[in-house]
Amino acid sequence: MHETAIVSGLMRILDTQARAHDVKRIARVTLKVGRLRAVEPAQLRLCFELFAEDTVAAGAQLVIDPVPVRARCTHCQAEFEVPRYRFDCPRCGAGEVTVISGQELYIESFEPAEESRDDER
Ligand SMILES: [Zn+2]
Repeated sequence: MHETAIVSGLMRILDTQARAHDVKRIARVTLKVGRLRAVEPAQLRLCFELFAEDTVAAGAQLVIDPVPVRARCTHCQAEFEVPRYRFDCPRCGAGEVTVISGQELYIESFEPAEESRDDER
């Protein structure tokens, strides 16, 4: 289950970022997840919940924003969305393409919980 390794890495980043911004509790985390990562959203959520216990992200909502797989043909430079792992150029039929998106896996943003904004009132 590679979701465990992914989430473990994400939690370290969240923890560091939260400290850096003086955030004591995180309400919501938005993740960009490329489809090539083959991450199972349900598994990812479950792992996130488990790892978030006793951290700044405990109880935080996890938003998974899927990124479609896109590729560029190395022959005609056409850019296209790749359906179902068919990496053939729809314009010229060449099989040589460069993947330009779909391998993302990062924290796009997180929102602090209201309590940590007390000093702004
Ligand atoms: Zn092409």
